[in-house]
Amino acid sequence: MKIHEYQAKEILRKFGVATPQGIACFSVEEAVAAAKKLGGSLWVVKAQIYAGGRGKGGGVKIAKTIDEVRQHAESILNMTLVTPQTGLGGQTVHRLLIEQGVDISKEFYIGLVVDRRSQRVCLMASSEGGMDIEQVAAKTPEKIYKVLIDPTTGLTDEEADDISCKIGITESCIAEARKLLKDLYRAFDDTDASLAEINPLTMTGNGHIIALDAKMNFDDSAVFRQPDIVALRDLDEEDPEEIEAAKHDLSYISLDGNIGCLVNGAGLAMATMDIIKLYGGNPANFLDVGGGATAEKVTEAFKLMLHNPKLQAILVNIFGGIMKCDVIAEGVVTAAKQVKLDVPLIVRLEGTNVKLGKKILADSGLPIISADNMADAAKKAVAAASASASGSKAD
Ligand code: GDP
Ligand code: MN
Repeated sequence: MKIHEYQAKEILRKFGVATPQGIACFSVEEAVAAAKKLGGSLWVVKAQIYAGGRGKGGGVKIAKTIDEVRQHAESILNMTLVTPQTGLGGQTVHRLLIEQGVDISKEFYIGLVVDRRSQRVCLMASSEGGMDIEQVAAKTPEKIYKVLIDPTTGLTDEEADDISCKIGITESCIAEARKLLKDLYRAFDDTDASLAEINPLTMTGNGHIIALDAKMNFDDSAVFRQPDIVALRDLDEEDPEEIEAAKHDLSYISLDGNIGCLVNGAGLAMATMDIIKLYGGNPANFLDVGGGATAEKVTEAFKLMLHNPKLQAILVNIFGGIMKCDVIAEGVVTAAKQVKLDVPLIVRLEGTNVKLGKKILADSGLPIISADNMADAAKKAVAAASASASGSKAD
């Protein structure tokens, strides 16, 4: 689960992490009032969307007067902000953060993530702050330092000081950096975070260490015990199809392609996406209907996929183990009849009662393209998608 920057900063402040003072706003008038309340002579107007890279997209602007705060708030609020992380469609800005401007002397990168291999929280730090950390990792990996934190001790003073020295935090700031890193780790640990990223962490002109940006993600499996975090959820920022899918207990992730996938089991769903790619196609989604591919679930899954205007074909790939193929075939037929299926449907069934299942599909009167194995199914889906894509272009 994700939250906004201003929410992450509120959490971090509770744990003692230094951040600029700021106020979240939903209108231009609120933004102006917030700047007046904060006082000072420099403000930052920041778009609040879940994606990063806002600065480059024009979503972070410095204001030297209240008039400039108003102008920036007017231009950023309701804009469609496109950043390297939003995708081409961008994300509409509904919330702003007005902050006191900070005089930056140096920028650093700090991130905490769960490292699955070592089963520990990994602290990553770099002198290359304010930049795209993926680029730093790709081009100059030696500039990223890591500490695998022992959960029984937490981040120690020695570890904090050592990594601060390595990234070039000056001697006079080491104590402040130590406090910030340890507070950040406690915040991460206490809230069941899966990511906490401060980019940039800054040294100010008068020698203080402060978190200028903040991003936190949380472990979905742990949110049940974090009601305060769940309350921060902003559904405007989430994929509507994924929200709908969760209501029906379907594991669904939207993707960029045009072949909808309906599969039982996460492993088979991954393999299905791989084989579509192998034959030159692109999956429109990941969808695991789980063990019980009932008619109700398949119907909901079809509806979800059909919301996608890019959809050109649907590939159903089901292994009937505990669930028998004839039951699944009945489910697929019922679902296909209920929704208005206007794209080709390719079905590959395997497992118990497969012959009976295929007969049900064939006798249904629906234009279902039956496939004998995964490769056959993927080839047929790719061909059907490209045929229906060129067909829709013609009309
Ligand atoms: P992101 O682009 O989404 O990661 O947003 P950030 O919060 O990191 O802001 C982008 C950039 O704006 C930062 O790297 C800073 O260079 C700049 N910036 C943000 N806040 C301030 C500030 O208070 N003072 C100054 N001088 N620059 C700022
Ligand atoms: Mn940033």
